[in-house]
Amino acid sequence: MTIKDTIKKYTKDLREVTHIPAKEVEILMLHILQKNTIWLHLNYNEKFEQEKELEKLVKKRATNYPLEYIINKASFYGESFIVKEGVLIPRPETELLIDNAVEIFKDKKEESLVLEIGTGSGIISVMLALLIKNIKIIAVDINEKALALAKENAIKHNVEDRIEFRLSNLYENVPEENIFLTISNPPYIANNYELPTNVKYEPSNALFGGSIGDELLKDIITQTNKKKISYLLCEMGYDQKKPLEEYFKSFDIKEYSFYKDYENFDRGFTLEFKN
Ligand code: GLN
Repeated sequence: MTIKDTIKKYTKDLREVTHIPAKEVEILMLHILQKNTIWLHLNYNEKFEQEKELEKLVKKRATNYPLEYIINKASFYGESFIVKEGVLIPRPETELLIDNAVEIFKDKKEESLVLEIGTGSGIISVMLALLIKNIKIIAVDINEKALALAKENAIKHNVEDRIEFRLSNLYENVPEENIFLTISNPPYIANNYELPTNVKYEPSNALFGGSIGDELLKDIITQTNKKKISYLLCEMGYDQKKPLEEYFKSFDIKEYSFYKDYENFDRGFTLEFKN
């Protein structure tokens, strides 16, 4: 069968799990062939020899298993990152967190130290290192597998000398006193929330933040304030603006603002403490 006909044949198997089934079959095919889209378009009428292999991947994907875990790749902020099972898959809305950080560093000339809590695949720290020249980053996580993957991504993007990856639960192993800004996309979903099937393949320790959901966020706010760090930038759940805004009242805060994601849901905040 030709490449073209093979794509057509397997597209129907993915209709239920994605709105771009043909495109996903192509991606799986290219993953098997280790080729790019341009090659594919030039070779549509060639024979495809690895149908058995493709069928296996399509079947796996048809169970709602994430495409990114199959091809071990995800794009974030226009860059390609390695992803692996056991570590959260990057989400487009997390790009907004990057934009907010870039904005803060726009006019800052001196070198500063940034901390990322819960680095996962390392997307946030790697992107910050790529976009902001005068920062050094400490990226922590409680998951050793995530730290190893994040380091791979830092090496892939040539920023491994600017990021130190460290095993730490929040600030536990972070004695540094000179951190200027903390950034985090922490687990913020309520423990009893029923996840959609595609998300069920992702690690629960990257998703669930406590019985209410915002417990970790509150811990991060409290501990960041205690460490006298000026800025805190976090992603959060769509329904957490009110409780967090209320929580802010217990601190001496200079300024704060919430932002919305691409679907117009409340998604996070930038907070400046009065230190
Ligand atoms: N920092 C990573 C991300 O934003 C991982 C976050 C997490 O695991 N909660 O994708």
